[in-house]
Order: sequence, then structure tokens, then C-alpha cells
Amino acid sequence: MNPLHQRIGVLGNGQLGRMMAMAGYPLGKTFGFYGPQGHSPAAFLGANFADGADDELDKLIATSDIITFETENTHVEWVKKIHEQKPVYPGIDALYTAQHRGREKAMFNELGIPCATHVLVDSLAELKQAVEQIGLPAILKTTTEGYDGKGQFRIENNTQIHQAWQAIGQRQAVLEGLVKFERELSLIAVRNPQGQEVFYPLVENIHHQGILRLTLAPAQNIDEHIQATAEGYMAKLLAKLNYVGVLTLELFQTTEGLVANEMAPRVHNSGHWTIEGAQTSQFENHIRAISGLPLGSCQIRQSHCAMINIIGETGPVQTVLRMPKAHLHLYDKAERQGRKLGHITLVADSAAELQSQLQQLQAFLPQAS
Ligand code: AMP
Repeated sequence: MNPLHQRIGVLGNGQLGRMMAMAGYPLGKTFGFYGPQGHSPAAFLGANFADGADDELDKLIATSDIITFETENTHVEWVKKIHEQKPVYPGIDALYTAQHRGREKAMFNELGIPCATHVLVDSLAELKQAVEQIGLPAILKTTTEGYDGKGQFRIENNTQIHQAWQAIGQRQAVLEGLVKFERELSLIAVRNPQGQEVFYPLVENIHHQGILRLTLAPAQNIDEHIQATAEGYMAKLLAKLNYVGVLTLELFQTTEGLVANEMAPRVHNSGHWTIEGAQTSQFENHIRAISGLPLGSCQIRQSHCAMINIIGETGPVQTVLRMPKAHLHLYDKAERQGRKLGHITLVADSAAELQSQLQQLQAFLPQAS
């Protein structure tokens, strides 16, 4: 099989699949998407297969050479079925581990990657015990299906325990001790089947109400030791999972060092800056990796980059289009509160230039909304 002409099947048809396809076409790939029927961000970028219907999955498998996925909420059964017939990356182990906070933290512990103290709870009684053990404040998180701060409750005092249990839907959860962090970082890495590994620079992520709003790339004042530590943790995960594709590790930076929050076995929102900001985007590198091609450079193109998420409403995009070093990406999604509709990438030669760009785009940042 010529690795330059593979047909890529994607489980999911959201913006991540859309951007994978946009990066894959210049490499000669074609795409098929298995996702909710009807209009979707990826709909016009390839063949469409309606998820849920068994024969539609069979059709995707039959018409693809390699299959990947864009969310950790992908059914493991689908990936197992595909695995029997076609290569599927990043693979079953990575997906199975990342979709359950308990399993993920067990892997961090096994590999000696620091993470928050935590206890798995299955009932209100167990939650009460866990609070005794961990102390308050603490964060209760559902073990599965949490994203963008959903499925979480921050417990400040004992009177809120019952409310927290109700709020997360009385289901299995992890109680985590609160990490006193200085800032939130993430590391994105890529590995191909030949074992080549590349790492993007650590970036700083700023959230508002649980949703990523701004990424600064690279994170400022990162010494080589911190980058090397993060890459060391990542290298252990890549090796353990025999990983192929893009893997993201979300980290807290504390006065005592880095603490892992969670990993995502996929291209990640905190890597969108790489489209114009890095020599090779995370999307292109993911496609290269799953196709068995050499990986591209992760080097930043200009000294300072940023990514602003466009959330809920499209906003004054004309302003973005008038700025010479700003790049607009819209995902073809209808406006809805809290929804990721697009992003803006900024590239600059200095911190001052980046600050000035951010100033012009205040309307897209949370304090202005
Ligand atoms: P998560 O869904 O686990 O990424 O959590 C969403 C956000 O909640 C994170 O980006 C942090 O800002 C915050 N958070 C999550 N876990 C903790 C923790 N153990 N200590 C402090 N803040 C946390």
C-alpha cells in the first residue's frame, strides 16, 4: 500500500475530524467520517457514514485503509471490531485507559507520573469516607464522559457532599484533592509506528467556566528542566501504550513541580495554534503518524503564538480578518451557548506584539463577554 494514497476513516465528524482532513488532503489522503447524521463540521470533507447503524460502520471499514478517532468517548467495541480488520490508531489500550479517570490515574501511578491524590467512589457512603481521607476542598469528577468541566463538582465544605453526589448523577466518580497550581500547561507529542517521537513545546492554557479560552505558545518562563520532565512523563505513556498518533497530557504547574491532570488520546484544542504556529501542525503530524510516515518538525515558527477559542457566538470576525498575523478558523457550527465554534491563531515576533494582538481581540475573551 502506497502510504501517500491511503483512505483515512475517522470515528466522529466534528471539528477535530474536519481539521485532520484539511491537513491530510495535501498529503494525498482521502477521508470518510462515521458520526451523527445530518450537517456536521466534517460533512463536506469526505464520505459520510451515519453512526449507530452497524452496516454503516462496516462500510467505513471497507472503504478505509486506516482508521482513527477524534474523541475519547468513542465506543471501545467499535475500535475492537475495526482492529480485527484494519489498522486503527491510537488503539484500544489508549482509548480504554483515557476514557476512565480511575484507570488513567492508575496508569499515572504505575509509571511514576505525579497526579492529584484521589479515591474512587461508588456510593454516597464511600464519598463521605473519601472526603474524610482526602479533606476539603476537593473535586468530585465522574469517571467517564466528563469534558469541558462537565460532570464535576467542587466540594468546599461537608454540607455540600450530598449535593455533589446528586449533581454528578449518583454514579461512579473520583474524588480528587485540590491541586494548588500556578498555571495549567499541556504537552502534545506524536509517535509513529516506527517509534519516532516528537514533542511540541509546553503551552499555557487559560480556562473560564471549565472551557479552554486561550492558549499561549510556548508557555513563558519554562526552563529546559520542566520541558524535559514533561517529555519524560509523556515518553513513558507513549511507550506503555505502544502509542501511534497525537497524545496530549494536561498538567498543573505547582511550586513542587508538574502534576498530571489527564491525558487525551487525540489531537487537542490546546494544539490548534500549531496550524499556523508550528512547522508541522498537530493535525498533519497525526495523519503522518497513523500513515507510518516520517513525523514533521514541532518547532514554533515565530517566537510567540496564541490561540483564542470562539465560544457561543461568532463575534466580530471582521476584526480578525483585518489583522495581518491573525488567522480565523470557523468550524461551520451553529451558535449555541458554550459551544466551540472556531478559533483564532495569532503569531508574533515578540511578547509585546502578541499582547497588542490580544488587546485587539478582547471581545473574544471571557472578561468582555
Ligand atoms: P478536567 O475536566 O479534569 O480537565 O478539569 C477541568 C478544570 O478543572 C481543569 O482544567 C482545572 O482548572 C480544574 N481542576 C480539575 N482538577 C483539579 C484539581 N485536582 N485541582 C485543582 N483544579 C482542578
